[in-house]
Amino acid sequence: MESPRPRVFFSRCLGFEPCRWNGEIINEDLPRRLAALVDVVHDCPEMGIGLGCPRDPVRVIRGADGERELWQPAKGLAHGAAMRRWSEARLAGLEEVDGFLLKSRSPSCGWKDVKIYASARPDAGSAPGAGIFGAAVLAARPGIPVEDEGRLRNFPLRENFLGAIWTLARFRAVERARDMGALVDFHSRHKLYLLLRSQKGMRALGKTVANPERRPLDAVLRDYRSGLEAALAVLPRYTSLINAIQHAFGGFSDSLSPEERALFVNTVEEYRDERIPASVLLRLVKAWALRFGNRYLLEQILFDPYPLELVDITDSGKGREGR
Ligand code: SF4
Repeated sequence: MESPRPRVFFSRCLGFEPCRWNGEIINEDLPRRLAALVDVVHDCPEMGIGLGCPRDPVRVIRGADGERELWQPAKGLAHGAAMRRWSEARLAGLEEVDGFLLKSRSPSCGWKDVKIYASARPDAGSAPGAGIFGAAVLAARPGIPVEDEGRLRNFPLRENFLGAIWTLARFRAVERARDMGALVDFHSRHKLYLLLRSQKGMRALGKTVANPERRPLDAVLRDYRSGLEAALAVLPRYTSLINAIQHAFGGFSDSLSPEERALFVNTVEEYRDERIPASVLLRLVKAWALRFGNRYLLEQILFDPYPLELVDITDSGKGREGR
């Protein structure tokens, strides 16, 4: 199967240009490594509305009407309307992308956990929310994976984001091919990966591909995309991986010795108790798939959902259920 490069939109300060309010750039390992493997689109919304660099910092406040406003305290200027206009135009003209990697907590780019101040008063309290551009991304491209460089230090969030953008890029190739056979092949190879992400979603997508009503290909592809995006939005629990791997194991377990079957059961328990990472379990099953020449399993995206160069077992310490 063709493994195309995803197209990803980055906040420009994530390694592309020193455009932060203080003239700095963010140097993070993962955005840099990811940028080398994807087709990059980047932009800086604050530069886009002409705030210049360096500039006085902005913050998000609640305006008198309850709407979010982008406020520049040092100048006493409100930039919310300009930022909304710019965001809408930029996103309307943006080519199809498979994901957004935005700057965490930025009043413009942040999509989560941005401080939204109750008013312009210096001592105003705040609640978490989305920045102005970040909110526009969520509204304009629902279903497309969005993350920030801070959250990607968490191992499960990183795994899910990378797996999702590469899966959507592979699906875009199917959409381009406009071929039912390519869709059937895509679904077959992603079956265990989709089982990991969402069992319910995987079953629904199977029905879409079966297409018993003989609907036109474009309608099938449209439904498949929306079901796929919904399945990829699920952050799976570790038990979902156990379920997917047990399905894979069922493909050759009868050919194993009792000792090998016991090894599998023990390895699953070690993973369940967080004594080994998921990769050990996946490698064990893949080795058996190789030994038995099980083509179906060897073609499963579950074993390598994104390029090996990005595999990194470091973690922020928030654990495998971290959000
Ligand atoms: S967070 Fe967004 S607006 Fe701020 S410097 Fe980075 S790209 Fe520009």
